[in-house]
Amino acid sequence: MIIDIIGAGIGGLTTAIALEQKGIKARIFEQTERIKPVGAGIILANNAMQVYEKLGLQKIIEDNGNSISSMNITNSNLKPLSKIDLSYFEQKHTIKNIAIHRGKLQKILIDKLKYTKIELNHKLTSIEKNGNDYFLKFENGKQIQSSTVLGADGLNSIVRQKIFPNNKIRNANQICWRGIAECELPVKFRNELNEAWGKSERFGFVQIAKNKVYWYALKAFKNNKNKFSINDLDQYFSTYNSIIKDIIKLTKKEKIYTAEISDLKPTSIWYKEKICLIGDAAHATTPNMGQGACQAIEDAFVLSECLYTYEITKAFSEYQKLRLPKAHLVVKTSWFIGKMAHFKNPISIGLRNQMLRLTPSSVNRKQNEQIFQLVEI
Ligand SMILES: Cc1cc2nc3c(=O)[nH]c(=O)nc-3n(C[C@H](O)[C@H](O)[C@H](O)COP(=O)(O)OP(=O)(O)OC[C@H]3O[C@@H](n4cnc5c(N)ncnc54)[C@H](O)[C@@H]3O)c2cc1C
Repeated sequence: MIIDIIGAGIGGLTTAIALEQKGIKARIFEQTERIKPVGAGIILANNAMQVYEKLGLQKIIEDNGNSISSMNITNSNLKPLSKIDLSYFEQKHTIKNIAIHRGKLQKILIDKLKYTKIELNHKLTSIEKNGNDYFLKFENGKQIQSSTVLGADGLNSIVRQKIFPNNKIRNANQICWRGIAECELPVKFRNELNEAWGKSERFGFVQIAKNKVYWYALKAFKNNKNKFSINDLDQYFSTYNSIIKDIIKLTKKEKIYTAEISDLKPTSIWYKEKICLIGDAAHATTPNMGQGACQAIEDAFVLSECLYTYEITKAFSEYQKLRLPKAHLVVKTSWFIGKMAHFKNPISIGLRNQMLRLTPSSVNRKQNEQIFQLVEI
């Protein structure tokens, strides 16, 4: 059996590593011509790091990233509103949460592959049924026969469009900028993720390596998204704490990534016959919990275990049964957090901040307990 994975993102690569370790052959087809060490940062939460520990990647990821021991929501002047102490989970699972450069993580994953080939410049354009198998057609004119297909091709997945054409992408009406500033945070902030919430915008930042601070900024829009510009970032955050203003100043504008935030409306089914979806292709989420890639990484682990244990269709149905509840919990909670973070009305903002301040840490811990716990297989 050979599994054909469409997409060499974090989900596709992690799946290929997990399959290799089970002795299952895979091929990866990736649309880009060259895998470049680009991108900003990413946070690999405890659940993702538990998977990477099982795949033998914990140490190299820790060595290339920076551990974070708390995740805080603050007001625009970095005064804490809510704090999630991650040290409890570090001790419970003997694993840390790591912030790392995306390009570095991607290189680590590619280097870990022993014999799985990544076919670059292979943009999938269609899938056609051929008896019990499929013909995969690519933009470069090539066509291959495939018995089993995994769609790891992200939010706009062609594989998903083929099997579930009616699934809906939802625009969150938020614009997001991401960048890396060449600086060191004050010691107090070095092992924390801080996200400052203001009025219909917010700014998050975390140290990912020596002299590298990953940051992201979001702003809500209605019909006016085109009026936003990278050149005005300092103005949008002019009333924020000086650390935030310095981070913006210390980032090269040409290296800031801009994207609109969207997710996939949760759907009850992720596979059809011998085609199955993983990661963002199955359950793309808004980034408000920093869990999108972490959920793709959990998919990779669970699906490889299921493919090792069961025949294909049973493997896909077990994988879906095991993974869907948590993935959808993340999508729904994250969507809600995104709306709350961008309140505009000062009264609503005051009430929200008060609620965040008064929420007992035990409640925050309980919610994360559910997210960080891997499913029993
Ligand atoms: C602003 C922001 C911040 C985020 N921060 C975090 C975070 O801190 N922690 C976290 O866990 N998650 C985070 N996420 C979410 C995370 O980026 C995604 O969930 C994750 O990248 C999904 O991985 P994936 O492999 O499923 O899809 P993708 O990363 O989208 O990879 C899909 C791959 O498929 C390829 N592809 C697409 N179409 C085709 C085709 N037709 N043929 C061949 N190849 C194709 C693409 O080129 C790409 O390489 C964030 C997202 C955003 C937008």
